[in-house]
Amino acid sequence: MQTSFLGDVVLTTPLLAELAARGPVDVVVTPAAAPLLATHPDVRTVFTYDKKGHPFAPATLWRLARSIRLAQARAGDPGSPIAYLAQGSVRSALLALLVGCHERIGFATSGGRYLYTRRVPYRENAHHAARLLSLAEAPRSTGSADELSASSSGPRVLLYPAPSDVAAVDALLGRAGAAGSPLIAIAPGSVWGTKRWPHYPALAAALARDGRIVLVGSAADTEIARQVAAAVGAGRAIDATGQLTLLGSAELIRRAAVLITNDSAPQHLASAMGTPTVTLFGPTVPGFGFGPLAPRHAIAEVTNLPCRPCDRHGPRRCPLGHWRCMRDLSVEHVAALVRQVTAPTVSVPL
Ligand code: SF4
Repeated sequence: MQTSFLGDVVLTTPLLAELAARGPVDVVVTPAAAPLLATHPDVRTVFTYDKKGHPFAPATLWRLARSIRLAQARAGDPGSPIAYLAQGSVRSALLALLVGCHERIGFATSGGRYLYTRRVPYRENAHHAARLLSLAEAPRSTGSADELSASSSGPRVLLYPAPSDVAAVDALLGRAGAAGSPLIAIAPGSVWGTKRWPHYPALAAALARDGRIVLVGSAADTEIARQVAAAVGAGRAIDATGQLTLLGSAELIRRAAVLITNDSAPQHLASAMGTPTVTLFGPTVPGFGFGPLAPRHAIAEVTNLPCRPCDRHGPRRCPLGHWRCMRDLSVEHVAALVRQVTAPTVSVPL
């Protein structure tokens, strides 16, 4: 059960891989996140639960539980599946009960914990991908807590763009005359207003000489992407916002030399595709466990602001009005981090 944000779904993929080694894995996600896992080899069936479209309603939960039970019966499953509550609401726990899950495993801090049969510690200092993976640990396993807390990188997350996603990116780059060009991907949007760094136009203009700027995001990011593209110059940036599926965006990010992003979903797409990443943290901090996991990454943040972090997600507006956590992050500093993560690695012969 993972009905959280898109990024959380990406970070659940190591748990899916672990569980797939034990038996078939069915997932319940939101309709928005379902395409992310549609091609995933560790997932048998993707079920969707539209929490927004269906406020808490026993009949809705019952219908979804029934369809899961029927599908699992048709597949010849022995019954009594195990539920892993990666998302911790009471509704998700109730759904697991209705499906007939005899074991319900989730975090000890979750709202639905009283309906779980096993509660796993929520390790505050671990990456969230490692936290989620810990749901699959055997009870009272030793050593794993130390492993998790020592890991600043976390386990490998993976996504699998379909051939149609690859073809869509080929077509997009072909139309832009950018096939084979070095690409610098920028994801300037975020659902949360205070997470959107205001200096992307200046950064894009500064980086445009190093590669084609390509703007990644959903249709909701089109206006901010237009502003960034305008700073680069007419026709020189490629605006892919709203033009690709989620896995298409992942494929486009895979082809880029680097992704510069806020603390938002594209960062996790880059982690899954192994693209060097520079993530800008403002009202949130990497210590929450949602930092980049790509092998080469850097974090840009203002470290001497006593108000950081001020919110688990990022408020719509800065409660102090000055928004220095983002405004004080300079273009020069972020550009230097981009050069750092894209610099060729030097191997020294022995
Ligand atoms: S209160 Fe501080 S951390 Fe929060 S948005 Fe304002 S400047 Fe950023």
